[in-house]
Amino acid sequence: MPHVITQNCCNDAGCVDACPVDCIHPRPDEPGYLSAEMLYIDPDKCIDCGACIPMCPVDAIRTEADLEPKFLRYKDLNAFYASESPAPAPRAAIPLTIRTSSRALRVAIVGAGPAGLFAAEHLLTQPGMRVEVDVYDRLPTPWGLIRAGVAPDHQQTKAAAEVFRWTTRRPGFRYQLGVEVGRDITHPELSNAYHAVIYAVGASVDRHLGIPGEDLPGSHSATDFVAWYNGHPDHADQEFDLSGTRAVIIGNGNVALDVARILVSDPATLAPTDIADHALEALRHSNIREVLVVGRRGPAEAAYTTPELLGLANVPGVEIRIQPDEVREASGLKVDVLREVVRQQQSGPRQIILRYLHSPVEILGVNHVEGVRVVRNELQAVDGGVRAVPIDEFETVATGLVLRSIGYRGTALPDVPFDESRGVIPNVNGRVAPGVYATGWIKRGPSGVIGTNKQCARETAEALLEDAVANRLPTPPKNLWHIDRLLDERAPRRLDVRGWNAIDRSEREAGRLAGRPRRKFTNIEELIRTAMSAPR
Ligand code: SF4
Repeated sequence: MPHVITQNCCNDAGCVDACPVDCIHPRPDEPGYLSAEMLYIDPDKCIDCGACIPMCPVDAIRTEADLEPKFLRYKDLNAFYASESPAPAPRAAIPLTIRTSSRALRVAIVGAGPAGLFAAEHLLTQPGMRVEVDVYDRLPTPWGLIRAGVAPDHQQTKAAAEVFRWTTRRPGFRYQLGVEVGRDITHPELSNAYHAVIYAVGASVDRHLGIPGEDLPGSHSATDFVAWYNGHPDHADQEFDLSGTRAVIIGNGNVALDVARILVSDPATLAPTDIADHALEALRHSNIREVLVVGRRGPAEAAYTTPELLGLANVPGVEIRIQPDEVREASGLKVDVLREVVRQQQSGPRQIILRYLHSPVEILGVNHVEGVRVVRNELQAVDGGVRAVPIDEFETVATGLVLRSIGYRGTALPDVPFDESRGVIPNVNGRVAPGVYATGWIKRGPSGVIGTNKQCARETAEALLEDAVANRLPTPPKNLWHIDRLLDERAPRRLDVRGWNAIDRSEREAGRLAGRPRRKFTNIEELIRTAMSAPR
């Protein structure tokens, strides 16, 4: 009975190495891994040994016989990938690299999200080397997008953070939470005390539409909305006008689908999740019944992944609709899945309408958003792809809430190189210069899912270790004692592993009492107070 990878797949590829017959693809060393929507098991090669199951941090692997109805389509998707992909090259033996160094290597990692913590894990598990890692984050909480980005109705995906508990217990690991690099401490000061600094700060700024009316009240970035419902302290007090019956989301990536789902989900289904209390309360009073998700290209080119599209079909009481003329000429697996999702719909009191081939040209309103004017596009072939070109057909959609979700970019840090055009730190395989490195979205741009960062971080950590062994790293004149004294002055309320563990325990306990996985604290003072109350 072959095994099947399903919706939650995080691409971390821990299962790949466990498989004795090399039937999980794409492997990190294969082309297409970085852009893969998920990993797939070749049903003709799987020998049903089950070795992959415990290696999956998000419980995404099932036997065919155990597939819940909502995952049945994944059997075909796994088989389809195997049949469409070229025969994989034999897996190269991974040489066991044992590096030795007589001195401890001190590394600062800026950013406590998955990319930073995967890099810490790789560095701290080097045989023959003594490595000390300080992981900085400007928030008093770690886990980056796992905590503040993954939608609350995707609890299984959040389980990926469990692996980081092991990392924080490793000798040499320290958190420096609540410390902002560039404000509390500078890059030169870090370079003075650590042999290397890795930037893993993500790409948190959303791109703008550049159209009239974009700044009207009622027009927001989808990233802000995500941060709000996930309890990010910077967004906990933000307000979104949910009094109208329709919302419009511009862009159709996975974030757009997350936001659409949350907007029309029955709040009773969100109540047992870790959604922020303030968001749950606001959604209980929401009048939104219809969400338009507007993509500029066709359904074959949609930015969302197939698993996220399939996930829409399982939201109770939500009907998925399309405009048939926008889909009629499209073809391909993604379009087939879309048609199936729509065909299998039952009518529901709330709707997500997936619109294609339209771009916004103006957000309408005087003192508040009242509508969006969109133009129809047609697709033109260009350089092996397609381009959306506007034609002279306009439509106005009435709405009081517009959320833009058209991509993200990183921001420059003082004294650190930055590529303004791409919004990343320029690097080669993670190396910016000996002693300075980048990983995650600030290294490669906003692409991939959580597990993609594991391989990305490994590549960066390997570049750093190569430089260490080749004696290319500058020798820092100061040490950690010096850093700690600086931070005692400038960030005296910073939190360490103990502080975060106290927050984590308190949130889980508060959640347990309410029948939820956790109740997030969303106020910085409350977070720090909770951390400080933990016994030393
Ligand atoms: Fe590979 Fe065994 Fe998992 Fe099948 S069950 S994918 S053979 S590890």
